[in-house]
Amino acid sequence: MYKTKTISIAFKQHNHNACWGNAMQAAQEYCDKHKLKFTPARRKVLELLLSEHRALGAYKILDLLREAGFKSQPPVAYRALEFLVENGFAHKIERLNAFVACTLHGTEHSPTFMICRQCENVAETYSPASNLNLSESAEASGFKIEQTIIEARGVCNSCAKTEIL
Ligand SMILES: [Zn+2]
Ligand SMILES: [Zn+2]
Ligand SMILES: [Zn+2]
Repeated sequence: MYKTKTISIAFKQHNHNACWGNAMQAAQEYCDKHKLKFTPARRKVLELLLSEHRALGAYKILDLLREAGFKSQPPVAYRALEFLVENGFAHKIERLNAFVACTLHGTEHSPTFMICRQCENVAETYSPASNLNLSESAEASGFKIEQTIIEARGVCNSCAKTEIL
């Protein structure tokens, strides 16, 4: 049910303009449909996260907001990020303490991230199998899983090619 082209798009050659435009449009439609306020700050933060398939820390986002002319205080950026995460437009990557735009928005998923340690690009993918294993052992221990996020670190294809072995 997942089109292969949506999987790990970040590490593939793709039309990023279209990718970016579609994601912004989908977010706007989602907000309209669910009567959510897509305020200029929220929109701008999502734009920043979508501009590259890379995770951005809150302070970086704050800097970029200021550069874009937003007289933003930290709470503005944090609230916008909270909104984006709550509504599934973005995910927090704990190991980088940073945020990344969701590339599977609108689908029920437990995100799995592949993080390139060289270029820090982040690809989101979907792995039903690993979740399944987890829920089995969780069930056995009586643990109730509320959220599963898998973060894998490695080297992406294009960095692997340039890496001196
Ligand atoms: Zn893209
Ligand atoms: Zn996602
Ligand atoms: Zn890379």
